[in-house]
Amino acid sequence: TSQRNKTYLPPPAKYGGRHTVTLIPGDGIGPELLSHVREVFRFSCVPVDFEVVNVNSALETEDDINNAITAIRRNGVALKGNIETKHTMPSSVKSRNNLLRTSLDLYANVMHCQSLPGVQTRHKNIDIMIIRENTEGEYSSLEHESVSGVVESLKIITRSNSLRIAEYAFQLAREKGRRRVTAVHKANIIDYDDMTSRSGSRSGLVSKPHQFDVMVMPNLYGNVVSNVCAGLVGGPGLVPGANYGRDYAVFETATRNTGKSIAGRNIANPTAMLLASCMMLDHLKLYDYATVIRNAVLTTMNETRLHTADLGGQGTTSDVVQSIMKIIQSKGQLTADF
Ligand code: ATP
Repeated sequence: TSQRNKTYLPPPAKYGGRHTVTLIPGDGIGPELLSHVREVFRFSCVPVDFEVVNVNSALETEDDINNAITAIRRNGVALKGNIETKHTMPSSVKSRNNLLRTSLDLYANVMHCQSLPGVQTRHKNIDIMIIRENTEGEYSSLEHESVSGVVESLKIITRSNSLRIAEYAFQLAREKGRRRVTAVHKANIIDYDDMTSRSGSRSGLVSKPHQFDVMVMPNLYGNVVSNVCAGLVGGPGLVPGANYGRDYAVFETATRNTGKSIAGRNIANPTAMLLASCMMLDHLKLYDYATVIRNAVLTTMNETRLHTADLGGQGTTSDVVQSIMKIIQSKGQLTADF
């Protein structure tokens, strides 16, 4: 096995073969999307129990997110909705999403951006893996107003974390049989001491996306590139994302949207969160459950009349979820001992 595999052993199942996973509903569409995941898991007899930890983005203290972090340390794995970062709060209040990723040292964000069946997009057959450094860069929460009206933000990039994410990207590329790793950087505008990598930042992600295979990049570029790539395959409602560290793994939608404006209206696309839950099942080595649910999600995507509004359809979130469960049922319901 590769080193990556060795470092990513999931926590062993407990209590009669069942896993306990921390569930953080978050804000906006997070709670409804995760309640659909639970519904599909129950229906499919997935041997996972959720420990729900609510966080409150209206609080100035960090007690709630620290509880969530402790729960993830205990369970090893989490599935989460995005937690809103209220910009009306004092600047000392940090993003809870970011605190969670840095405290657990979830250094690798992985997003696999693939064209989906039934979704109309300009480019077909996109298949790009994006590996984003997840703990430093502009996300180091080191900001201050030096003089009134002048804000300084420290962008921290360390050699050791850069090597760590580059190694991760190459290991993953090798494991998945990929052919090319592209490093995304902006060395031409920033005077680095030792920029000897053979990496090439190419333009044309939007016009010629097929040239890209695996892409590795620092934190902020990762935000931009993942949003662009999600757009290429149909939008933020479709693509799952994972945050891996040596000891823990946390799954969420790739573009980490709160979706406040569409919350509670039964119109959000459940695909990204359901596919994130499948990545989580793969991490727990519950491959058969992951495959059954993923195939049902993809089969439903192909039914364009069921598309949610973000894809131009009139289907509701529950219409899509009902269809997914119907397909799971028609394939024969899974039981714990298949
Ligand atoms: P903020 O959370 O501060 O509002 P954001 O960057 O998280 O900003 P959102 O507004 O949450 O952005 O999401 C961006 C857009 O993507 C919105 O139009 C939202 O409705 C849409 N979107 C995100 N997730 C989904 C989803 N699952 N289904 C349908 N639309 C979605």
